[in-house]
Amino acid sequence: MPEGHTVHRLAARHQELFGGEKVLASSPQGRFAEGAALLSGAVLDSTEAYGKHLLHHYDGGQALHVHLGLYGKFADGDGEPPAPVGQVRLRLHTDLHWLDLRGPTACELLSPPEVDVLRARLGADPLRADADPAVPYARIRRSPTPLFALLLDQSVVAGTGLIFVTEALFRAGLPPTTPGRELTEQGWFGIWADLVELMGTAVETGRIDTVHARHLPEAMGRPPRVDRHGGEVYVYRRAGLPCHVCGTAVLRADQAGRNSYWCPRCQRPPRRSRAKH
Ligand SMILES: [Zn+2]
Repeated sequence: MPEGHTVHRLAARHQELFGGEKVLASSPQGRFAEGAALLSGAVLDSTEAYGKHLLHHYDGGQALHVHLGLYGKFADGDGEPPAPVGQVRLRLHTDLHWLDLRGPTACELLSPPEVDVLRARLGADPLRADADPAVPYARIRRSPTPLFALLLDQSVVAGTGLIFVTEALFRAGLPPTTPGRELTEQGWFGIWADLVELMGTAVETGRIDTVHARHLPEAMGRPPRVDRHGGEVYVYRRAGLPCHVCGTAVLRADQAGRNSYWCPRCQRPPRRSRAKH
């Protein structure tokens, strides 16, 4: 599933293609025919991403809400749109550009109150200027749930996926199983600042890189990572391989139905829980 930076890039791209323009909408596949008919001819005022949710705000107050889920994809181009190929749920176009959406989990029109409901169920998005990291911390500090699950919970932090969460916990030196309530306030604000930086860079570059300059392939004299996700990471999908920092084999475990990866040496439980040993 795309992480938040991808959705923020799409919001910027769609603004560039259609911002201020009267947009024609259709649903070649037919599943969004009614919504497309209501939308067609409206002017796109603005776009925004909130976590993994994309919103187009049109004049007249209606919003298009898209969540790509696991299989959703956008394609766009210049000029006349091509004959629809496959299951195109939504097609937008102007004289200059076209945009096709296939396979999303959500593609719907929302009224302003419905947009408020959507926002209210989402946590703080590190990529949004209006995010307040004190809000998620109020939940995290009281929770016995592991940080891995808390940081993936979109009602706590919005936009983070497996790669950012796995890597932010490595960079913070905390095992993914650390209970939320063992995270200090300083620890949380450190993780938040790191997410803001890592995700912000990913919006610019379109890939996820999480290693410090001294651990880049050229600095370490190692081959670059080969993976369809691209980007240089410390532990994500590196089970059994040596940690770039200490050389210990990276571990993998199933946690809350997802794969978690960590270095048992670099990521030790916080001091408080180690005191007894
Ligand atoms: Zn290590």
